[in-house]
Amino acid sequence: MGKRKSARKPQAKVKKVLDSQFDCVACFHEKSINCKLDFDQKVGHLQCRMCGVNYSCAINYLSHAVDVYHDWIDACEAVNAAGKAAKTAAQDRNRERERERERGRDRDDRDDDRPRRSKPYDRFDNDDD
Ligand SMILES: [Zn+2]
Repeated sequence: MGKRKSARKPQAKVKKVLDSQFDCVACFHEKSINCKLDFDQKVGHLQCRMCGVNYSCAINYLSHAVDVYHDWIDACEAVNAAGKAAKTAAQDRNRERERERERGRDRDDRDDDRPRRSKPYDRFDNDDD
């Protein structure tokens, strides 16, 4: 009686979505970033389970979770830089507007205070006498 061939174990289907955990640069928690790579959709997702910040970007078959993570950090820095620049510009604009308003108020005040010279002086021309 021959030994029965052991039935081949069904190969576990290779999970296409890989998970990785990274430190969050938004709330600075360690290993709170959950990163998923969806190679079917060619999209990488990450989300922080502490602060809920999330990000997704396009990936390719060579991408790793760390690539999505670095992409996110780059995006954060770009946003921060853009935000800072926009903020500075807005502050400059506000300052400028404030100055304009100050100037305007000064001018208005002067206009209000200044006695109106409604009578033209050329009426008082006594040279002919
Ligand atoms: Zn976070």
